[in-house]
Amino acid sequence: MSSADIATCKQQVIDAARFILESGVMSISGHGNFSARVPGTDTFLLTAGGSFADLTPDNIALFKLDGALLDGAVEPTSAEIVDMHGVVYRLRPDMGGAVHTHSPMATSFAVAGQPISLIYEALARFNMTDGVPLAAYGPRGSQESVENIAKAIESHPNTGGVLLANHGVLAFGKDPMAAARANIIIEEAAILGINARIIGEAIPIPSHMVEYTQRRRDEFAETGVQRADSD
Ligand SMILES: [Zn+2]
Repeated sequence: MSSADIATCKQQVIDAARFILESGVMSISGHGNFSARVPGTDTFLLTAGGSFADLTPDNIALFKLDGALLDGAVEPTSAEIVDMHGVVYRLRPDMGGAVHTHSPMATSFAVAGQPISLIYEALARFNMTDGVPLAAYGPRGSQESVENIAKAIESHPNTGGVLLANHGVLAFGKDPMAAARANIIIEEAAILGINARIIGEAIPIPSHMVEYTQRRRDEFAETGVQRADSD
């Protein structure tokens, strides 16, 4: 793990935090925290203070996956939630970024105590065929909260996020930008799910079509850019 790797990783967090802020999915308070696994190590970076609008590398601290602080300084409100991010990296070796927000529509599902099922095609295309499970309530960052997040992740291997009951959403992806996109897709699914209930009901994608949805995505991705014949 070189200092150049860490500097690159910090910049990815700063860029992804700005991207999610500009997407408009944050709650009114703008509250959130962002993390990234340092590739190939058992360490991760976590925003340890400051807002997503004006993060600097000095606002990002380095931790071991067990939560031990290795470098930097952490404000109390961030120290509370270190393990909420660490548990993602411990349980999902394929994940390189995680973001926690209070995105209002996703958090509405969490307040209602309801998971988001596979009601929106983008969830399937972003490898969330298990939908977005609900982690039972525990005080912010507490052992109970982290254990409930772990249970939700372990019982739903095909997801990119967990709803935190009465609190918010924790989204993750292969890198920080993918985590930001996962949070945005989850918020879109929540908006659509709530709107659908106003006019009828939110109907899940037929289970026999789910694999087909992903296969079609993969086939077109493999084909690459198609160009018109210039002759
Ligand atoms: Zn929170």
